[in-house]
Amino acid sequence: MASNRFAFFNGEFIPIEQAQVSVMTAALNYGLGVFEGIRAYWNADDDQLYVFHLREHMERLKRSSAIMFMDLPYSVDELCRLTVELLRREGFREDAYIRPLVFKSDHTIAVRLNGMTDAFALYAVPFGQYIPGTAVRACVSSWRRIEDNIMPSRAKVSGGYVNSALAKTEALLNGYDEAIVLGGDGQVSEASAANLYIVRNGALITPPITSDILEGITRRVVAQLAQAELHVPVVERPIDRTELYVAEEAFFCGTGAEVKPIIEIDRRPVGNGAVGPITARLVELYSAVVHGRLPAYRDWCTPVYTNEGV
Ligand code: PMP
Repeated sequence: MASNRFAFFNGEFIPIEQAQVSVMTAALNYGLGVFEGIRAYWNADDDQLYVFHLREHMERLKRSSAIMFMDLPYSVDELCRLTVELLRREGFREDAYIRPLVFKSDHTIAVRLNGMTDAFALYAVPFGQYIPGTAVRACVSSWRRIEDNIMPSRAKVSGGYVNSALAKTEALLNGYDEAIVLGGDGQVSEASAANLYIVRNGALITPPITSDILEGITRRVVAQLAQAELHVPVVERPIDRTELYVAEEAFFCGTGAEVKPIIEIDRRPVGNGAVGPITARLVELYSAVVHGRLPAYRDWCTPVYTNEGV
């Protein structure tokens, strides 16, 4: 596996080992950053690297920045162009993960967002599975999801991932693969770094965007694919904890997680304990789409190695 060599930092492409910050950086001390997680998929048949939903991720980065009073001095178009330029420089011929990060770079003891300096960094690394295995066992976390009036849950804020890390660590140390986190209202919110769907009576159900979830791009992709390709209805509504125990199928979805079947929740098998039929079809469909193999969805994929502009 190749390693990464560059970062775009402080307005220029530089060797990754030179992209450094001080221990005094406000973002490091207080979690004052916003970021994105984007995947690029290698398609050997096309000899092409495709970035999935690049524009949508950069649009969310803009929204996260706005919520957090961060000044991102690049347009969505420019951010997309910089990403393609970075990946071309890296020359990856394998799957990769792209991380744009906007952060408060001041070296002052100041816990605030206004009147501070913002920095932007962008790097990419070769990347495989985020959650190992083809199907996973989950638990309901004892940690609650950050509520929108505590910290913006729909923005991808660095400090918010303390919550994710606590939930994930508890799950792993207790022998599970992933955590399902309930919201402040006690209803299902999402996983540590992925959204969640269950299947009941043949319909896909996912918590609404008012359930303190991150407004996941994969969550939306799944809804589109399920309706258009599988003719499965999709319902957004609150989900009770014990609905998890009687669901016919369940899966996580996210850029990192991709579509990840859940076969057990709190030691109860989901359905008959094997990957369900709708989930299995979504896993396949999602993989085909992100690799640019389905012409109908090819415009969701940005090719890196082309002379065309982006
Ligand atoms: N929730 C959280 C907390 C996440 O970190 C992620 C990953 N970005 C998701 C949901 C899924 O979002 P997306 O599909 O846009 O990657």
